[in-house]
Amino acid sequence: MSNAPLPKKIDPRKLAERGVRIEGEIQLGALPNLVTMLADKEGSLTVDLQFENDEQRIRTIKGTAGGKVSMTCQRCLEPVEIEIEAKFNLAVAPTEEHAKSLPRYYDPLIVEGDELELPGMVEEELILSLPIVPYHDDCSVQTSFGDEAPTDSEPVSEKPNPFSVLASLKADKQK
Ligand SMILES: [Zn+2]
Repeated sequence: MSNAPLPKKIDPRKLAERGVRIEGEIQLGALPNLVTMLADKEGSLTVDLQFENDEQRIRTIKGTAGGKVSMTCQRCLEPVEIEIEAKFNLAVAPTEEHAKSLPRYYDPLIVEGDELELPGMVEEELILSLPIVPYHDDCSVQTSFGDEAPTDSEPVSEKPNPFSVLASLKADKQK
């Protein structure tokens, strides 16, 4: 395992031809669209991709990318650390038309010309791997107030019912 930075532009056909494996780190700063969804823009993710031609001479990219990112908990609005993992099972096609003829068990990746922007490709899959609604398993551990996370089973608090308060206010006015 190396922690070398990933190349920005790659030639997926050549890499598949040679059966190259690319392992490395990608800085969150290189993934601007992903970063807009995160609470913390610092850090990096690991990428591990195998390029190869399959039995049908289809150029494929398989592997994973992931790591820990910080998002905003949708229950308590504090940062929550989320482990994400994107899985790649791609077949490279030069055109939309060509992509349609690929076996269904691959996700088509259209690469016009020879070059592919690796960060953009990785970023797209990472965004898809983010939870739609991130939250802590237990928000009470994260907050400094010691409040418990609201749950459906929580007994109704002893606060006066706001409607009965309103009603008594109205009654007072009428006096
Ligand atoms: Zn929370």
